[in-house]
Amino acid sequence: MFCEVYLLDLPYHLDRPFDYFTESSDIKVGSIVRVPFGRANRLRFGVVSAIKDAPTMTGGEDINIKPVHSVTHEMFSLSEEMLGLCLFMKEHTLCTFGEAFKAILPPGALSDTLNVRVRKTCKLNLSREAAVTLLLAEGRAGIRSDGQRAVIRYLLDIGSADAELVRLQPGVTSAHIRALAEKGIITVTEDEDIRNPYAQYAKNVDRSEIVLSPAQEKAFDTIESLYIEPTARAALLFGITGSGKTKVIMKAIDRTVAEGKRVIMLVPEISLTPQTVSIFCSRYGERVAVIHSSLSQGERLDAYRRIRRGDVDLVIGTRSAIFAPLDNIGMIVIDEEHEHTYKSEQDPKYHARDIAAYRCAKHGALMLLASATPSLESFYKAKSGIYTLVPLRERYGGVRLPEAIIVDMREELRLGNTSPLSKRLHDSLLGVKERDEQAIIFLNRRGYSSQISCKECGEVITCPRCSVSLTYHSGARGGKLLCHLCGYTAPVPKTCECGSDQLSFLGYGTQKLEGELEKYLPDMPVMRMDADTTQGKLAYDRMLEDFRGGNADILLGTQMVAKGHDFPRVTLVGVALADTSLYVSDFRAAERTFSLLTQVIGRAGRASDGGVAVIQTFSPQNEIIRLACKQDYESFYEGEIALRRELSYPPFCDMAQMTLTASDEVTLMKASKKLSDSILEKLRGEYGRLPFVVFGPFEAQVYKLNEKYRMRMVIKCKLNAASRRLYKELLSEFALERDVTLAIDLNPLSV
Ligand code: ADP
Ligand code: ZN
Ligand code: ZN
Repeated sequence: MFCEVYLLDLPYHLDRPFDYFTESSDIKVGSIVRVPFGRANRLRFGVVSAIKDAPTMTGGEDINIKPVHSVTHEMFSLSEEMLGLCLFMKEHTLCTFGEAFKAILPPGALSDTLNVRVRKTCKLNLSREAAVTLLLAEGRAGIRSDGQRAVIRYLLDIGSADAELVRLQPGVTSAHIRALAEKGIITVTEDEDIRNPYAQYAKNVDRSEIVLSPAQEKAFDTIESLYIEPTARAALLFGITGSGKTKVIMKAIDRTVAEGKRVIMLVPEISLTPQTVSIFCSRYGERVAVIHSSLSQGERLDAYRRIRRGDVDLVIGTRSAIFAPLDNIGMIVIDEEHEHTYKSEQDPKYHARDIAAYRCAKHGALMLLASATPSLESFYKAKSGIYTLVPLRERYGGVRLPEAIIVDMREELRLGNTSPLSKRLHDSLLGVKERDEQAIIFLNRRGYSSQISCKECGEVITCPRCSVSLTYHSGARGGKLLCHLCGYTAPVPKTCECGSDQLSFLGYGTQKLEGELEKYLPDMPVMRMDADTTQGKLAYDRMLEDFRGGNADILLGTQMVAKGHDFPRVTLVGVALADTSLYVSDFRAAERTFSLLTQVIGRAGRASDGGVAVIQTFSPQNEIIRLACKQDYESFYEGEIALRRELSYPPFCDMAQMTLTASDEVTLMKASKKLSDSILEKLRGEYGRLPFVVFGPFEAQVYKLNEKYRMRMVIKCKLNAASRRLYKELLSEFALERDVTLAIDLNPLSV
């Protein structure tokens, strides 16, 4: 018997199946095997992708086919679906088979020491009387070892106990336990111990009927009618902030699970709080698995095993949970589907939405996307009828959307107010205090001030490793300068390199704003939430709970405070500076700004009427800001999609972004020339029929990152087998280069 094997650690240009022979009947398609490879026949891991009767002859010569060494790691062997998924990812994200394989398995799956925990239990095989008799017996009939006697005495009353506890008794070692087991006086049993850090949430299961509002009911009915159809389908639940999308989703999950099918639900990291987890665990109990990147390796592994054993109906998790080895999937939900974290930045550079679509097709399942501000791509598909549009246009309970007030910060400056707090926001905060409510203030920039520049020579202090300015963070010993890209830190200099001591600190971040709030509103406790204050594993969750519990009046922070949260007491949202992400030179900048502003404004006044949002900006006429204030996604969409069509951006074309990286600029320039020559040659030749637009080479927006220089080229062209073949050829050509790497990102989130 012969099989084709994909090795897991080959470079891109060698990544293809290799033939091996085997006589083992344990080998199946999807098996993980070890096979000899190369001249030295070093053993490597591989995955069997096909089994056949004869090897594939190349050129008819008698090739030397090697034997499979062994089958291993059977618990991770790939189902047909998962094998297909690896090949799909290889083709569509231009990664190697091994990279796809590693993405779909829990981390460390193939390490030698699998972190599987077993729990041992000691059970006394004697009745109480018999045990007492044994302890009292003397000579050869009795037991002389004090340790063994201690074990029997310990088990006398309780009958059985965790071996770990028994061993902790004074004078007892594992040898004593073993000796007693050999004599048959006790039995030691081993059970797989599966960690579920969320078991505590599953205690009081409540599966009472979810009562939907009439509008929600209508949305649910549409989803249900899709669900009943026998083919794979997709729907976009487009609901304004506070419309109660979660409840509709839960009812859809109920429906799916009641039918004996299973569900994956993806949420962004930021939303995967204990509150979210407990909402789902208290409904579906022990049948929930939660997967995210801060679980320990062992916890990840155990979640994987529970899912594979069929113990799980609902998987909730961040991006990688899309690979959960569930059978019989009835629905995949992607909540906040517009979130950029659903796209992986590392190889394989997949988008969870594409993986979801693949899996739904295999299972004939429903893909349910949900968002108040869908990605342009998804809304376009909904409008074109590829997805079913399921709108929810009112807030739950008839609550009105917050009133949004735009404050012109130029006017504040003219009136002599140089602080980052406008009079309007200041007064609104006082009102919140008076009514004993809470406020959220959003500023998309951490640190104290965003840059330091010299008043004499104009120099801005930049990171020595990257081409970006350093951010000043206040703190002990005069604070520090920090690079937000590579983490480089330096003390704050007293003088500029030109000798001048006239340094000015420009722009402000959350740290400075916190100080200002404390200065102007000393009676309102502020909680600052950003990457600097949420470093511990539980810090973020704890802060959210503290704020919910009323430990602070103001929650100030970056994106972390902007999204998804449901704080009933928050009636005011302040956006300290709406412009921060608006003028980035990226074709998605408007979309991102609109979505972020809409989301943060939507945190206000969720429980009752009268919510207010104060938006501070230097460009009060900006259309994006105005539409976000009205929460008018559809008008935003109409304007933006026309622009995309006009300029030929996604969804009207596909883009391939190629990045060349090298630590030496001369090498990089030569490589850029080579890349562009190679592309042009291909376009003149074999690929001449493809409609292409090529840009570059040009410097990446951050040209130097962590000591490496980066050049880019962008190709706009429909993605299909032919264009992918061209990209694959380029990757293979550059795989052989020594000092420069080429990465291709298909449909990147930012360009
Ligand atoms: P969204 O995610 O659409 O912004 P949420 O799902 O957070 O909105 O719902 C907003 C609030 O309304 C939440 O506090 C939620 O519990 C409540 N809510 C929504 N729908 C219902 C319902 N059918 N029954 C009871 N409470 C609901
Ligand atoms: Zn200077
Ligand atoms: Zn840096």
